[in-house]
Amino acid sequence: MKYEEVSKLWLNKEFSIPDEPMIIAGPCAVESYEQMHTAAKKLKEMGIKFLRGGAYKPRTSPYSFQGLGLEGLEILNQVKQETGMKIVTELMDVRKYNEISKVADIIQIGSRNCQNFDLLKEVGKGSVPVLLKRGMMNTIDEFLHSAEYILNEGNEKVILCERGIRTFDNTFRNTLDVGAIAYIKKNSGLPVIVDPSHSSGIKEFVLPFACAGIAVGADGVIIEVHPNPEEALCDGKQSLTIKELELILDRMKNEYYLNACISA
Ligand code: PEP
Ligand code: MN
Repeated sequence: MKYEEVSKLWLNKEFSIPDEPMIIAGPCAVESYEQMHTAAKKLKEMGIKFLRGGAYKPRTSPYSFQGLGLEGLEILNQVKQETGMKIVTELMDVRKYNEISKVADIIQIGSRNCQNFDLLKEVGKGSVPVLLKRGMMNTIDEFLHSAEYILNEGNEKVILCERGIRTFDNTFRNTLDVGAIAYIKKNSGLPVIVDPSHSSGIKEFVLPFACAGIAVGADGVIIEVHPNPEEALCDGKQSLTIKELELILDRMKNEYYLNACISA
């Protein structure tokens, strides 16, 4: 199945999100039950349906916190049962597919694995929706071909995520490629969301980066929030408090509705 031919209709059906941006929020990593439960409860009160949190974390340094692994997945599962939040969590290893797919409503394939073709084929064989993040060194064409590895195995439930790429500029953690979002929207049937947290790396820029992505057609956002960002074991600098997310939620939604009006 070619990326031009797929339809994103499944997204609204599967998750019943009519005419709204898809909002995925939560901590970078699962750190404890309390952390995830606090985040989930408050996000749910704000009307957010998707909770992110990595049990297995791809870290640049082997000495950084690597995630709680299976214990983290159990925490996600418990929070899911208690709150009804849909879980978005990362799969890094083909051998963990069964473990992760028991808990995840959406399996995230991270930037570093965007061209891990065996992993792409594995999630393609399954039926769990996949959030594929753009490799930080991947062209748009490479990114779309990675999506096709999944589609070709039969799983058409693919959501793409622009999360910034490596350029000569290091003001931000990455360079958000808004053009990629516009291109993917125009040339593929795949839903695409924007990650203003990993692209900017700085919490003050989460709102403008999110709105920029939505303005060029993103179907939603994935944003890192933490009950206490200063104590986060991973990506605290780019994480919003839950209150801070609440303050910008309407701005992002309005940008989405405005864009929907213009392109209608
Ligand atoms: C993440 O979303 O937690 C993450 C590691 O992002 P990326 O793969 O885009 O770096
Ligand atoms: Mn992160």
